[in-house]
This record gives sequence, structure tokens and C-alpha cells, in this order.
Amino acid sequence: MRVVISGVAGVGKSTVLELVRKKTNYDIINFGTLMFEMARNIDLVKDRDELRKLPVDTQINLQKKASAAIGKMNNVIIDTHMTIKTPDGYLPGLPEWVIRELKVSAYYLIEADPEQILKRRNLDSSRRRDSDTAEDIKEHQEVNRYYASSYSVYTGATIRFILNVDGKPDIAAENIVRRLMPHD
Ligand code: AMP
Ligand code: MG
Repeated sequence: MRVVISGVAGVGKSTVLELVRKKTNYDIINFGTLMFEMARNIDLVKDRDELRKLPVDTQINLQKKASAAIGKMNNVIIDTHMTIKTPDGYLPGLPEWVIRELKVSAYYLIEADPEQILKRRNLDSSRRRDSDTAEDIKEHQEVNRYYASSYSVYTGATIRFILNVDGKPDIAAENIVRRLMPHD
């Protein structure tokens, strides 16, 4: 089975995923890392935050290559994005050609209060974040729900929204783990 876990930058996705990884037998595959390694190998980018600034057709090419690789893996949690905020607008993270490769059974959207996300972004010096306002982050989270709904309709996969409350990533993780384990 393959599931997707997504959430805007700074939502606390890495922290939640690390807790999920410890409690399940799923591997975690970071879609952006695959794209980044492919792009770096041909000298297109030096860091992962440059990916979303590449020409859209280049991003789509990398996206296709990454999804072809991930589509061959089983029992994976795919760490990716419902939409990517590019200079041209929102780019779908799971357009038809990606969905067809991935055959995802469930989508999990990790969400948090936009003000808390903004604070976390400002504390993280390892990434080159855009200068979004809390209002921009709110919009991005809303847009991600719309896109997730259409991916879900297209494939029949379920969607769950997971609130990552500040200081309580273990609760968000538990919400996901519970659903990854076999149940009646
Ligand atoms: P992350 O570290 O998860 O924020 O991912 C780094 C970058 O990888 C993102 O900012 C995007 O540029 C790219 N990326 C990740 N997933 C996708 C996807 N499904 N489609 C297109 N680009 C993606
Ligand atoms: Mg992360």
C-alpha cells in the first residue's frame, strides 16, 4: 500500500513523520528529495528550495521521473505536497500522470494554525522559505484541501485532515499510525 502525507512548509511534517516511522513498518519516501537528487545530478539546482523556481515544464519532467521511481515501491509513506507554490501559481503535486503511477490509497494532510507555521518557518534557518504572510499560508492550506479533494474523487482514495497542535506532534502522529495499522 502507498499513502501520501502532505502539509505546507513549516507545518511540522518532518517531526510528525519521524514519529510515524518509528511506530510502523512503512518506509518514508520524500518526493522532493528524489526530484532534488535528479536535478542536482544534471546541475539544475544547488538546493531543494530552488526546485519550485525552475521552469514549470522542467519541474513536471522531474516530477514524472520521481513518480515513476516511487510507483515501483511498496508499503511506503510518500512525503510530498498537494500543491507547490511556484512563481507562476500553484502547481499540482499529484496531477493525473503522477496519480496513475502512485496508486495511492489514502491522503493525509497535516495542518496547523498559520501563525504557528509562520513562527516555525522563521526559526528554521536550514531552508530558504518564501516571505509568505499568515494570510498566504492560510490560502495555501485551503488550496491544498481543494486539490486533495479532486485527487480523492479521481482515485477513490480517502482523505484525512490531521491537526498538528503546537508542541503535540505525537498526537498527530498517533492519528496517522492508528490508520496505517490493520483494523476491522
Ligand atoms: P519538501 O522538502 O518536502 O518541501 O520538498 C522540496 C521540494 O520538492 C518542493 O518545494 C517542491 O519543489 C518539490 N516537490 C515535492 N513534491 C513534489 C511533487 N509531488 N511535485 C512537484 N514538486 C514536488
Ligand atoms: Mg520537512
